[in-house]
Amino acid sequence: ASATPLMAVKNLEAWYGESHILHGIDLDIAEGEVVTLLGRNGAGKTTALRSIMGMVSRRTGSIRIGGKQTIGHTSRQIARLGVGYVPEERGIYASLTVKENLHLPPRIRPGGLSDEQIFELFPNIRERLASHGSKLSGGEQQMLALGRILRTGAQLLLCDELTEGLAPVIVQQIGATLRALRQRGFTILLVESNFRFAQGVADRHYIVEQGRIVDMVDNDDLEHSLPRLNRYLGV
Ligand code: ATP
Repeated sequence: ASATPLMAVKNLEAWYGESHILHGIDLDIAEGEVVTLLGRNGAGKTTALRSIMGMVSRRTGSIRIGGKQTIGHTSRQIARLGVGYVPEERGIYASLTVKENLHLPPRIRPGGLSDEQIFELFPNIRERLASHGSKLSGGEQQMLALGRILRTGAQLLLCDELTEGLAPVIVQQIGATLRALRQRGFTILLVESNFRFAQGVADRHYIVEQGRIVDMVDNDDLEHSLPRLNRYLGV
């Protein structure tokens, strides 16, 4: 990470009701970096993304985005700073058309991709514009969920399990898309349980265990660090 990260998270703690889920997350991400959160089910990865997005009301610590402290901000205020969230459940409305789904989130900042630019990244979306959300395959839903966030102008993308349940050929397409987005300068924080996918797209990886960051590894060192990481990941 560079000297002034785009986002710096320090000692982030979070609770759902009385359940203390995050016990001090420290991570940073430089502009243009692709970084993953890896770890077992229930480790707190989704909660970390939701906390950064301002969607977990009880949270403490420090989250600086573009130099601004956002720990007490609403999701809306955080979105205005250029942060976009693609949730694991994708949030595609079955009864709306693809076009309506695409245009649902408001443009919040300049620099959002045009529809044409989105179709270049995801040709399937153009072909399915008039279809209802319910008619899309899982892969098409995922592309639509990602595409519409790019339209808002978000520059820091928080993506949860993009590849879950998708066929290998679609997983490859999504990998190619993330590499294209990286080329265009997007910053991406990715929760992933597909280890090989993570290895194919990311610059660095953080390991999450029981609500803490317990390790960090550069992608180039990932392969030879596997014996060390294996106890957290079980790969
Ligand atoms: P997964 O891959 O299973 O989503 P994760 O690392 O993303 O794993 P989280 O979803 O962040 O993990 O969950 C962390 C812990 O918080 C788990 O013990 C989970 O049961 C609990 N949890 C998640 N959401 C809620 C909620 N809305 N209310 C109460 N507890 C929750």
